[in-house]
Amino acid sequence: MPACGGGVWSRSRMHVVSSSEQERFAKSRMHKTVLVGGVVIIMARIFGFKRRGSRTNNSLANGYMDDDDGGDEEITGLSQLYCPEQDSVSHTRDVADVLSEMGKITADQLSELRQIQKEKPNCDIFQAIRELKLVDEPDISMAQAGLYDMEFRRIEPEQVDRGVFDKLGLDYVRNNRIMPIAVRGDTLMVATSRPADLFVIEDVKRQARMNVVTVVCLDEDIDKVCEAFNDEKIDCDLDDIINDMTEVEVVQDHEEESEDLEKMAGQSPVIKFVNYLISNAIREGASDIHIEPKEKFLRTRYRIDGVLFEMRQSPLKMHPAIVSRVKIMANLDISERRLPQDGKIKVSVGGRAIDLRVSTLPTNHGEKVVIRVLDSKSILIGLDKLGMEPDAMAAFSEQIALPHGILLVTGPTGSGKSTTLYTALGQMDGEKLNLSTVEDPVEYQLDFCNQVQINEKIGLDFGSALRSLLRQDPDVIMIGEIRDNETARTAVQAALTGHLVLSTLHTNDAAASITRLVDIGIEPYLIAASLNGVLAQRLVRKICPECKQVCEVSEHAARYAKKAGIKPEQVYHGAGCDACRDSGYVGRVGIYEMLVVDEQFRDMINKDSSVNNLRRAFHESGRRSMFDDGIVKVKRGLTTIEEVLRVTEVYGQNEKEVFIENMGSD
Ligand SMILES: [Zn+2]
Repeated sequence: MPACGGGVWSRSRMHVVSSSEQERFAKSRMHKTVLVGGVVIIMARIFGFKRRGSRTNNSLANGYMDDDDGGDEEITGLSQLYCPEQDSVSHTRDVADVLSEMGKITADQLSELRQIQKEKPNCDIFQAIRELKLVDEPDISMAQAGLYDMEFRRIEPEQVDRGVFDKLGLDYVRNNRIMPIAVRGDTLMVATSRPADLFVIEDVKRQARMNVVTVVCLDEDIDKVCEAFNDEKIDCDLDDIINDMTEVEVVQDHEEESEDLEKMAGQSPVIKFVNYLISNAIREGASDIHIEPKEKFLRTRYRIDGVLFEMRQSPLKMHPAIVSRVKIMANLDISERRLPQDGKIKVSVGGRAIDLRVSTLPTNHGEKVVIRVLDSKSILIGLDKLGMEPDAMAAFSEQIALPHGILLVTGPTGSGKSTTLYTALGQMDGEKLNLSTVEDPVEYQLDFCNQVQINEKIGLDFGSALRSLLRQDPDVIMIGEIRDNETARTAVQAALTGHLVLSTLHTNDAAASITRLVDIGIEPYLIAASLNGVLAQRLVRKICPECKQVCEVSEHAARYAKKAGIKPEQVYHGAGCDACRDSGYVGRVGIYEMLVVDEQFRDMINKDSSVNNLRRAFHESGRRSMFDDGIVKVKRGLTTIEEVLRVTEVYGQNEKEVFIENMGSD
């Protein structure tokens, strides 16, 4: 075979020299055959699709194949212009080479692969590696990443940039094997399982109107994310669903009602609506979903950052079907509508399993349903994420490192006490310590500790559960709440016999919790001997970063601002935008006061444990009160004075007056 003075791109019409059976198998659209010096080389397509090993192949020395019609035609135009350099016809590094360099396959395995490629040019290198089961998928992806000098990453649904995902659409993302994972400025990070497919990356760049950086991920990760998002995707417009549902006739107050309702709840618009209600709540970070029948309409509200937002008013006709659907999901009796019921639902949203606690209550307009979202992701946060100021965090860290004694966290319902306690437990070494909890109810499943669920119906109350726990060689015990004398007494006993006890109380401030223990009937000397410290806390909403601006301070707040030395240019608020539902706030942060029971306090508890006396001593100890801690956060532009006032309102004028006095005397 004489050199014809040029290579031939297979895409162009080609001249077939001979057509023996031996050559026929080389037929492939994906390959470019290049003829140089009587040698046919299967070259990788330069840009795009899978790169294959290209190498000399003597068995093909006398022939090369076409790609389209395989007819005998003359070499024309472009094909003859291409003249490859000697280098380009040598072997192109491929994923098998990288695997070999990574030490994932042996030299023998590499030659075996090359042999397969030689024998079956239709079989690409990936197929060959998979057929021989030489390595796992992550290894193949890592090798691909290495080949293209990219980073390899595993992708979880929560890492995906939902905005860009929705813009590109589920089908586009799935078909093109890409996943938008992060936006930084005007650059989008895209994960792909086909890094060689530059056309797709170009297309993403065009569609997203951003620069694109690419990382390599697993094919299965893309499927996992698509599946997760597909589950929560609502196929048609919500209003269409509601319109559909209003056409559904509901049978009222008949014997056979339950069956009808069940049938009706099985119809897809109801399922879609309820799925949407739940998945949307989780996406919005809501802690509770309220489904409330009113006289003329059905109201759905979400509690977000501690405040209820109305999400939708729907026709009242939808109510029975929705309630039935929720009840079916929670395994409740759908025919019982006159008594309150409780149940649980486990859902998967964005690939994460989330528990929901359902409670129904008969009201004058029908059953009201409240669904609490128990997302363990929101409760297991790092100590540094609690928002404690450095000194409070140091004191708290010291407290949870103590070997024995009682540490109380106090505040009203919804003040973040559980998050603080779980975070404290999460800091401890679950491998070396026996961490146990007694809770009612166990809301969040934690794998690093033993959790006991109270069941008063069968006599397993806090007191008896605690006594049993003490026989289980515990190091740290977390008691959901100290409500009665028996629990308090057992907690004191546990603390005095060498255990660290964490618990909560419902009191307004740290000092009041000591008085509260006395009121429950614990002798002051026992409190003085066992109590290590009390952390009082509230949650304040954080100013929305999207619409944060300097603002005029209100008359009410001005008094505090002036005393606290807050300059007018330090007073921020959120003007309201889409990101914060016009509330001006997004997310919450804790404000804390940490009372450490030192010698002076022990003495005082023994002598005079009245609230006022303890409060005065706390202020004299120089530690910040919750209110002062809130003011620190106002000065840092994290929250507003109004917000700090709102959450500390319940805890008495006394505290604020002390604050005003203190500031005045400076
Ligand atoms: Zn905003």
